[in-house]
Amino acid sequence: MSQQTESLQARYDALNQQIDAALHTALRNRSGLTFVAVSKRQPLAVVHQAYALGIRNFGESQVQEGVPKVKASPEDITWHFIGHLQKNKVRKAVKHFAYIHSIDSLSLLQRVEAISAEERLCPKVMLQVNYALDTDKYGLHPEATEPVLEAALGLKHVACIGLMGIPPLAADEEKIRAYFEGMAALRDQLKQRFPQWPGRLSLGMSSDFGVAIQCGSHFIRVGSALFGERN
Ligand SMILES: *Cc1c(COP(=O)(O)O)cnc(C)c1O
Repeated sequence: MSQQTESLQARYDALNQQIDAALHTALRNRSGLTFVAVSKRQPLAVVHQAYALGIRNFGESQVQEGVPKVKASPEDITWHFIGHLQKNKVRKAVKHFAYIHSIDSLSLLQRVEAISAEERLCPKVMLQVNYALDTDKYGLHPEATEPVLEAALGLKHVACIGLMGIPPLAADEEKIRAYFEGMAALRDQLKQRFPQWPGRLSLGMSSDFGVAIQCGSHFIRVGSALFGERN
């Protein structure tokens, strides 16, 4: 094993221990959680190293950077698109990513539906909510989420499975917990209105995935804690 792979293995082992501890605290088991390795701004080689460790879910935040990585990687990887998606990149995104975590407007949702219909695809998507009303973040206003979800559930070529959120930068743990709990409460409220909706949550990154797991997140998106600093 190269030194690089060894340290990746060590970081992955440490992360798995933290994940297991958080699951234990929350009385949850591993089957309800997907670990998404965020490989953005990391070279292709690290995707292959992580794949060799058994990781099968990867996240990218840009179409231009992500698609070549998808094409150059094993076919049994599930790719997650987690960044702001521009309308002119929707076709490439739906062709190469099974999940889009970041549907941040009704018009983007409709564009994904139209292109997916043409391509005969049905990506799994989540609605990104700007729950903290951050001026520097994309996402639906919390109060605009219900009508967009209602629209999403009426579409044939997207499967809307949940909500995604990113807490404010530099928030302390208490604030982050309040943010995640707020997202979970919003999900509960929407699930009452749409009981057939799966209501999954995509919350939690390198610095806060433990809290996210305790708050019921189904997807954690971990970059730097696994791969180290980005380029
Ligand atoms: C970059 C990114 C991540 C991973 O961030 P880390 O702090 O490196 O774990 C997760 N989610 C989104 C939406 C991102 O853009």
